Amino acid sequence: MRPDLARALAERAHAFVVSGAMDSERTNPCACGGPEVEHAGTAHRGGHPGTGCRRYRPDTAYQLAARAVDNADTHPLDDVDAYLTGLYPRPTPAPGGHGVGPSDYLGCRKAIQLREAPPPGMVRNDVDMFAARAGSGWHELTRLAREKQYPWREYEHEVAIPGLDRVGRLDEYDGVLARVKDLKFPGEHTWNDLADGPDPAHRGQGHIYGLGMRAQGRPVDTVEIEYMHRMEGEVERFPEPYDEGTAEEALDWLSGVNFALDVGAEMERDRGGPSSDVICERFCPVRDHCWNVAAAKAAGRSPESYTILGAEPEQRHAVWAAERALSFKRDRAEAKTEYTRAHSLLVGLHNGRYGDVLVTNKSRKMPEHEKWAKAVKAALDDGATAEQLQKIPLTYRWDHWVEVKPVRAADLDAEEAAARAAEAADAEVIDLQKAGAA
Ligand code: SF4
Repeated sequence: MRPDLARALAERAHAFVVSGAMDSERTNPCACGGPEVEHAGTAHRGGHPGTGCRRYRPDTAYQLAARAVDNADTHPLDDVDAYLTGLYPRPTPAPGGHGVGPSDYLGCRKAIQLREAPPPGMVRNDVDMFAARAGSGWHELTRLAREKQYPWREYEHEVAIPGLDRVGRLDEYDGVLARVKDLKFPGEHTWNDLADGPDPAHRGQGHIYGLGMRAQGRPVDTVEIEYMHRMEGEVERFPEPYDEGTAEEALDWLSGVNFALDVGAEMERDRGGPSSDVICERFCPVRDHCWNVAAAKAAGRSPESYTILGAEPEQRHAVWAAERALSFKRDRAEAKTEYTRAHSLLVGLHNGRYGDVLVTNKSRKMPEHEKWAKAVKAALDDGATAEQLQKIPLTYRWDHWVEVKPVRAADLDAEEAAARAAEAADAEVIDLQKAGAA
């Protein structure tokens, strides 16, 4: 729309807002000024006898005013989500097929079952979407930035996967480097898990994309998972040669899920349950159905107890659960004692790397709120005035401890690559020297 027309439209819409027309019952007036309901016909699409209008045409300024008022305070992440869902709709499966895709690899099979074949009347839970939406936002921003700078790469590339009923969508394919890249934007918790290396589910997913691209006749030599800590910006990359065995192992797993869906089999719950597993508790939209949450609450039981042991647990099942809990309690006590013993050997060591372990002496200044609250209570009991209470100081203490962490797998990989490169360079020098001597 021409800028002058857009401005005129906004000014007319503003007039509707200040008139209070949006605060009372919406009349959806026609461009002729007559309310929608006064237009002729059962659907009120005909003319208006009072204005002489021949057919109803919604007043675009009124519509704009309604949209502006209704969307004045939307959540930024909801807006990002709506934009991205429109841009990248979930791929639909082939007729009669299932929507299982590469990103489902090693996911919870029960969640997949309830997503693909929900029982009638199943109510879905509201879930915490912040992490998923923040990750999607970073994905899109990265794509926009890279598309401008590296236009030869293919982004959000749809790729058919042999054996699956729907296409996958890979983040980046670089035909020059013959590299498939999948990006992940984990938060702190997942980032800490990556200390031991990439998530096997992400590796499998990447290799499936590699297999799909090769099936299209496109070269794939490398599959890389690129992680960026979404709050701190730190990056770790895990490139590896494409491996058909890894791709087929992952595809077999997904085909097994598709087969179970075909025959209507009940699938495993692959997570621990809402009392112990944050994925179930905060991020799974089928949690209440999966763990019979309402029935468990009514029976005064935990969802896990009610679901696994049954509504009326047999004695032998209760014995099994009690013995299992006791066994883990003993193991935990033993592990805690051994850890304390081992950890005490580190006190006084210099900060540094010991083998593949990082040892760091740490300190922090902590406010002593509890001590302060006790002093305030004692003073109150003694009849202190407000002025005297204000003078009670908040004291601080220093906490000291030794942190022990593994060297991150990404750093070990980088060291190994550097050692290999140095070895190759040495070998080249030796070859050149030999050639020179000859
Ligand atoms: S609640 Fe947990 S176990 Fe159940 S479907 Fe969801 S992720 Fe799987």
